[in-house]
Amino acid sequence: MKIVATRAELAAWRDACGGKTLGFVPTMGYLHEGHFSLVRESRGANDLTAVSIFVNPTQFGPTEDLARYPRDFESDRRNLEALGVDLLYAPDARDMYGEGTETWVVNRGSCDILCGRSRPGHFDGVLTVVLKLFQRTRPTRAYFGKKDYQQFVLIRRMAQDLDLPVEVLGRPTVRLPSGLALSSRNSYLTHGELEAAPALHRTLAEMRRRAHSREETRVEALTHWGRQTLEASGFKVDYLEIRAAETLSERAVAGDACVALAAAYLGKTRLIDNLEF
Ligand code: AMP
Repeated sequence: MKIVATRAELAAWRDACGGKTLGFVPTMGYLHEGHFSLVRESRGANDLTAVSIFVNPTQFGPTEDLARYPRDFESDRRNLEALGVDLLYAPDARDMYGEGTETWVVNRGSCDILCGRSRPGHFDGVLTVVLKLFQRTRPTRAYFGKKDYQQFVLIRRMAQDLDLPVEVLGRPTVRLPSGLALSSRNSYLTHGELEAAPALHRTLAEMRRRAHSREETRVEALTHWGRQTLEASGFKVDYLEIRAAETLSERAVAGDACVALAAAYLGKTRLIDNLEF
């Protein structure tokens, strides 16, 4: 596995790839089985696989966890090497942004709903860095987890709107047997919070069961029940919504092609999860 830290080295490596197909998995590091599943998917479908590790400052708000975001480069490097990754790009903020950026990628359609409403500017940072990573890496296919469902929808939309020559693919969320979605931020949870955390997935799954069985299909009633259940399990709910799976537009009735999305705090830690109906 070749490791590069600068865009110049990355460009040289990419130029030497010739006509080979390249799969790309962008990450913020502290890698787990969720990330590895994307890497395996890419390895299976492309001649070469590149992974990036970059904790992107522009997607963190001023009061968010940028400084304490978990990092373990040595462990990440070993794991990616063992998975057969061809290239690891691990730049610093100077290599990524130079003196800073004045130009941003902004989605004006659905950037202020769900996570975009609670984290103003978050998706501007995400879309901008992902476009820059695409420009530098020039992948054939790029792999994203549906764990970050809104992020995946917005990146797919960016590729479509801006004619990017890359296939954007979303892959299923990897979970613990308890149902808890794997996340680098799970490392913030105390022992007690870890025991409470699977209630997030359980609640979404029960909402889906009720909708599928036609016991309750009104979005208003389903989300009201879900919010109360989460609060009773110790969560402070940021949002819990059911929306159209393709576009994230609002729905009054839950049916097929819907997705339930939630963000909720356990103590100081904000967890997100979602479930497609
Ligand atoms: P992150 O390092 O959190 O920025 O995540 C990098 C990529 O891994 C994103 O596309 C995430 O959606 C994806 N990812 C994170 N957690 C999971 C998970 N539990 N299952 C599948 N993909 C995930």
